[in-house]
Amino acid sequence: MPEAANGNGSTSTDTPRTLDTRPHEPIVNPYQSKYPDPASNVSKFKIIESTLREGEQFANAFFDTAKKIEIARALDNLGVDYLELTSPAASEQSRQDCIAIANLGLKAKILTHIRCHMDDARIAVETGVDGLDVVIGTSSYLREFSHGKDMDYITAKAIEVITFIKSKGLEVRFSTEDSFRSDLVDLLSIYKAVDKLGVTRVGIADTVGCANPRQVYELIRTLRSVVNCDIECHFHNDTGCAIANAYAALEAGATHIDTSVLGIGERNGITPLGGLLARMYVGDKDYVMNKYNLHAIRDVENLVAEAVDVQVPFNNYITGYCAFTHKAGIHAKAILNNPSTYEILKPEDFGMTRYVSIGHRLTGWNAVKNRVEQLNLDLTDDDTKAVTAKIKELADVRPLSLDDVDTLLRKYHEAKSDGSHHRVLVETDHPNKLAVA
Ligand SMILES: [Zn+2]
Repeated sequence: MPEAANGNGSTSTDTPRTLDTRPHEPIVNPYQSKYPDPASNVSKFKIIESTLREGEQFANAFFDTAKKIEIARALDNLGVDYLELTSPAASEQSRQDCIAIANLGLKAKILTHIRCHMDDARIAVETGVDGLDVVIGTSSYLREFSHGKDMDYITAKAIEVITFIKSKGLEVRFSTEDSFRSDLVDLLSIYKAVDKLGVTRVGIADTVGCANPRQVYELIRTLRSVVNCDIECHFHNDTGCAIANAYAALEAGATHIDTSVLGIGERNGITPLGGLLARMYVGDKDYVMNKYNLHAIRDVENLVAEAVDVQVPFNNYITGYCAFTHKAGIHAKAILNNPSTYEILKPEDFGMTRYVSIGHRLTGWNAVKNRVEQLNLDLTDDDTKAVTAKIKELADVRPLSLDDVDTLLRKYHEAKSDGSHHRVLVETDHPNKLAVA
């Protein structure tokens, strides 16, 4: 690692900061429609956070009760609307954990996720949760190879389970599984039927991660014209579309998006919470900033990453160690003049720090000048250009640490008092000579 970047978000003391504190300009997108779309929920979506359900299906995940409670509280502090928990029918401990979290008195509503089965529903309604997310497979694959039931059976079962849950005064969501490989007529008929029964939400689930944003938009738009209730969406990320699909779904009229921290879940997981918030911040900054505690993202991610024994990826949305690192000289110059030139997300809004990397051969003298000002050294622009040329020459041998750069700048500055500064540049003919200074 050439320099101490803001690894995992921590602010290292030698991190150069820009002196420019002007606020970002409003986010302007020339492709955005000038006319508001009444069906779009980009400015009024809700998050159903499923780290404690979908996330438990991640290969590495095992959360004991204390860890589940810690994660639940952290997500509640971040401001997610719902927490979805593993089915209490899965195991005795899962049932007890469900009761414990439902009784924490969190602001977020608590849901648990069950199969469309009366046995599961009877156990779940006794746990104290606010609602049940009911799911059943409708794709031809699941009907043939998983539960082997036809649509008439599925519809009858759905009506029985939904009627029971509603009689207990709880929220109920009815979702199909593998919705994008299910027959459209089957889907719309069953959603129409459960909407008439008064479900709180219907759910569309891309269980295998096969859908693309255009398919999502078309299906949700069609569904929106068929049901009056809310629409929840669940997108797996097998082909990298989980965030884009969530956004397309909200534009088409979906109301709720399922997420998990760092996207953990079955296989390679679902829409990541942090990535969705980054996307939605660009969609409607005021809504996202007023509703969610964006400074909490990093801590929640670190908490979950540690719990499941993974690193936060280097290129993670918002919190990846290079998410706000600017390297190329031309970028650094523009960023120093106005951060909006190369940043759509304002790092301060997420409790993060911008970092301008300067000890490499792509550096530029404007970035080095910024460092000179931070160190309060008295160097002219010509001096800075001369040192920048030396940094590039040395960085052709190996990248320099920030300490290396600072040493060179200080040596040069000191030598100016007796006029020997040019000699400093000549004598420093290898990066290792900086380390011993
Ligand atoms: Zn899933």
